[in-house]
Amino acid sequence: RCVDQNELDTDSERTLPSKVDSIDSQASDFDPLDQSWSRKSKTSVFSEWDIPYEDMHILELIGRGRLGKVFKGYWHGDVAIKQFNIDTDNELQLHSFKQEVQTFRKTRHENVVLFMGACMNPPHLAIVTSLCKGSTLYSPIHVWKETFNLQKSVLIATQIAQGMGYLHARGIVHKDLKSKNIFLENRDKAVITDFGLFSVTKLCEADRRGNCIRIPEGWLCYLAPELITSLKITNLGLDNELPFSKSSDVYSFGTVWYELLAGEWTFNNQPAQSIIWQVGKGIKQSLGHLQASRDVKEILMMCWSYHPESRPTFGELMKALDRLRLPKKRLARSPSHPLHLSRSAES
Ligand code: ADP
Ligand code: MG
Repeated sequence: RCVDQNELDTDSERTLPSKVDSIDSQASDFDPLDQSWSRKSKTSVFSEWDIPYEDMHILELIGRGRLGKVFKGYWHGDVAIKQFNIDTDNELQLHSFKQEVQTFRKTRHENVVLFMGACMNPPHLAIVTSLCKGSTLYSPIHVWKETFNLQKSVLIATQIAQGMGYLHARGIVHKDLKSKNIFLENRDKAVITDFGLFSVTKLCEADRRGNCIRIPEGWLCYLAPELITSLKITNLGLDNELPFSKSSDVYSFGTVWYELLAGEWTFNNQPAQSIIWQVGKGIKQSLGHLQASRDVKEILMMCWSYHPESRPTFGELMKALDRLRLPKKRLARSPSHPLHLSRSAES
């Protein structure tokens, strides 16, 4: 049974027992020489990146997502603090969280949100990143119904591909690339957030009517066929049964590219069962109504290839996007070039 996220989105503050010692003792970067750290927290696995909970000033609530709450905060400047609702009784989930945090330390790119540190002391589990200004790509597309011209769409997509190519080169699979996880700073600089964190989400829930899978609004259209066909109810509720890969990120990128061009999600307003059935069968969003050149649509088709190995890499996508920029004069006059894609960059 699939249910909408809202149906299950409870705001229960859980008390989290500190049953983590066995995990922490496996930490590879434990620094026994860091005496001040040891005094502060026996359960922490970080030194350089550990931010004591009491050092952060938590200000207003910015939003709430599948993982927990996001606050604006102050820690040597404005920051975003993402607090996780992780059941620390579930050692696997806690372990996933810690492993993901380890990988964030390796990231430094213009189009990737800046990871500043983490608070790893149960019950306080949070990551601290730079505070993104502006809105996510979701708002102009789905709320304000703005249209982007081709030039701006290519500019944004190129930056996303750049950031994603960087993450992949670092061995990081995003697992949750979507317009809500891409900020647009100063209206045209794309910044990718929330990479890797999907592992700690709990998809499966037990409710009064039995076990069910949580389907957050607008989530399915980013899921590649191999993920859609692997969705099943488990007791674990972790992503370790879903075959996320660099190629499944490329599929999600295709959907973001479609959102930029069409101003809506793929399979818009269709029920979850119908999307699952179609994607599983290899049926793609039809592009008949999309007034765009063949090259523009070709990128969508490549990203949405049924077989993961047939999808391009982000390096190849960058080249394909670059080619869209070249014949500017021809594009401006092309009859296949849509009107709404020909208007000036800023809407
Ligand atoms: P989702 O990705 O489903 O929107 P999140 O928990 O990631 O859920 O985010 C919740 C809210 O917090 C969103 O409105 C998002 O815009 C905001 N947010 C998340 N990360 C940041 C950040 N680094 N800077 C500013 N706002 C953020
Ligand atoms: Mg997010």
